[in-house]
Amino acid sequence: MMDAGKLSEALRAWSTRLGERAVLDSAAAQQRYGPCTTGVERSIAAALRPRSVDDVVAIVDIARENTIPVYPVSTGHNWGYGSANPVTDGCVIVDLSGLDRVVNTDVALGLVTVEPGVTQQILYDYLERNRLAFLVPVTGAGPHCSLVGNALERGYGITPYADHFGAVTAMEAVLPSGRIYRSALSELGGGTVDRAFKWGIGPYVEGLFAQGSFAIVTQMTIALAPRPERTEAFFFGVAEDDGLETAVAAIQQVLRSLGSATGSINLMNARRVLAMIVPYPRARVGRDGILPPEVAAELAARNRVMSWTGLGALYGKAEVVRAARRVVRDILKPAVNRLGFSPQTASRVNRVLGSIPHVRDGSLARRARALDAALQIISGRPSQVALALAYWRSSFGPSPDREMDPARDSCGLIWYSPLVPKKPDNARRYVNIVNEICASYGIEPLITLTSLSDRCFDSSVPLLFDRRDANQTERAQSCYRALLDAGRRQGFLPYRISNHAMDWITHSDASSWELVSALKTAIDPLGIIAPGRYAR
Ligand SMILES: Cc1cc2nc3c(=O)[nH]c(=O)nc-3n(C[C@H](O)[C@H](O)[C@H](O)COP(=O)(O)OP(=O)(O)OC[C@H]3O[C@@H](n4cnc5c(N)ncnc54)[C@H](O)[C@@H]3O)c2cc1C
Repeated sequence: MMDAGKLSEALRAWSTRLGERAVLDSAAAQQRYGPCTTGVERSIAAALRPRSVDDVVAIVDIARENTIPVYPVSTGHNWGYGSANPVTDGCVIVDLSGLDRVVNTDVALGLVTVEPGVTQQILYDYLERNRLAFLVPVTGAGPHCSLVGNALERGYGITPYADHFGAVTAMEAVLPSGRIYRSALSELGGGTVDRAFKWGIGPYVEGLFAQGSFAIVTQMTIALAPRPERTEAFFFGVAEDDGLETAVAAIQQVLRSLGSATGSINLMNARRVLAMIVPYPRARVGRDGILPPEVAAELAARNRVMSWTGLGALYGKAEVVRAARRVVRDILKPAVNRLGFSPQTASRVNRVLGSIPHVRDGSLARRARALDAALQIISGRPSQVALALAYWRSSFGPSPDREMDPARDSCGLIWYSPLVPKKPDNARRYVNIVNEICASYGIEPLITLTSLSDRCFDSSVPLLFDRRDANQTERAQSCYRALLDAGRRQGFLPYRISNHAMDWITHSDASSWELVSALKTAIDPLGIIAPGRYAR
């Protein structure tokens, strides 16, 4: 239980040090940071908005002196995993979005160092302004999400450097002691080599900062993929559901054959694709709360959506892409029912269809828009288009005049995101579990399998619901737990977990969590940084 006197004391000290405008009281903090797509409500003690690393050091010093837990967020858009909410009640949020400088770039080495408030859009504009030919590591969460926050969650996208924490090469962070962490190599004067080489020397300490609660990260160096001479998307369709196993084996073969000429490859079920191209047909929901199979099949047929749709990208010099296209065709053609390559066609088609009044809202135009959105993301252009998914089951859509914010707009979303070994029978067992459990809780089973490598998929299943409906919210939260439990029994475990279910992963006597606890006690004995985040 937090001591109210100590909190007042700390708030006074923070106001004096940071200025009153940088301190939000509990009511203001709750209103600004409380709404969460998972429907879970946390009690937030206050919020702080630092502008510099010195401010962050002062925040940590005052938190420590008064034993007040703080919860850092970069832009706080962790939609589907907790939004800006802390894991435990009573934390003071530290909103780092005001630290939004691109600190430096090393064009020769393809590195950029950014502060936590630098979003996909800020980096994109910076690269454009300075004519630097690199790709932004974009995600479906859109232009206003932080690069640092996403990497610290070990998020991923589908540009060539899809594993966003994998691309992080160096960090600066404020430790619970108030001391600024810099790596051993940079303290020895090797700043450049430190940024060029991820692992440094000695134990890999920076791994503790990702999915951890050991420090507040104030700068991060990220390796950027060079913008390729040519980017080309390929799309494929599998007509019948039982073609899944063959498609999985073929995807693995493509990845093994092409290496870095291809990025990640996504495989989506029909309902997942429909969620991108048709408004939710609320009137046709069945008694169990989702679209009956025959309705889903009818919509899929009308929109020419197959049982499984694949999306991948080819990157490189024109001749490399040409050769890669041949390899993709040789491997995929016998395994799928539809295969197409699309350099810029989707954008052109989208523009043309969008300009014809009667066609603008038709299914063809919607498909072209979805393809165009996919192309934008593959090419490292930040886009809000994928974000509309969060609004699919809400009773209202996003406002055209405001940037999308699913937490603010009462969207209901929890991401179930387990790892699935890339074996055809594993994929089948996994898909069966998701279909069955989602249906029994009235949640549409929207499945994506993203290739993290030729060995492993991460699947992302957005559990969508109407957050204004308490019954639906309760069912979605129960569905999430049921999926975690059923997945665990079959060996499918999450790569990332929502804040409200952190106990599901950490409440065990596993030796790894024991080690994490021992480290946490040693580094943060008062438990002031992000208590409960990936720690017991
Ligand atoms: C439709 C949709 C599509 C999405 N697509 C993707 C996708 O393609 N890929 C993906 O990865 N995610 C995706 N997301 C999930 C999520 O919205 C993103 O991962 C988003 O980038 C996370 O929010 P953020 O960048 O604001 O990070 P934040 O919310 O700022 O940070 C996330 C967490 O990291 C920790 N943290 C953040 N900053 C710091 C710091 N400086 N120091 C210490 N700890 C810190 C905190 O615990 C925080 O809660 C999607 C969400 C939606 C709704």
